[in-house]
Amino acid sequence: MQQICLECGMSISGTMRNCPKCDNALNLQHDGSTITVDIAHHGERVSEALRKMQSEIDLARKGVVMSIRLVVGSGLIRDEVLLALRDLQFRGEVKDFDTESSNRGSVLVRLK
Ligand SMILES: [Zn+2]
Repeated sequence: MQQICLECGMSISGTMRNCPKCDNALNLQHDGSTITVDIAHHGERVSEALRKMQSEIDLARKGVVMSIRLVVGSGLIRDEVLLALRDLQFRGEVKDFDTESSNRGSVLVRLK
């Protein structure tokens, strides 16, 4: 895996926790961006939506985005996603999450 240290621009191959040049913690770096992932608009069942959420979070944590906006709809998936996120937050896999008052159908998950 090839990545760039966002602090000093050093190109790093392999998986390292800290940049060999500036010692910045690579797994905490983010570029401030938010990606939006729709996990509930293709007729997914709850279990499918939760699996999709988990794989998107796993993937995003390896990258440099700061947050994921999960589009969850307003039904059962939303309730289950909030429960699952509470669990992930407890285990330290996400930093925090917030149901957006402007859009009840989505949840903003802060990863870093
Ligand atoms: Zn660096």
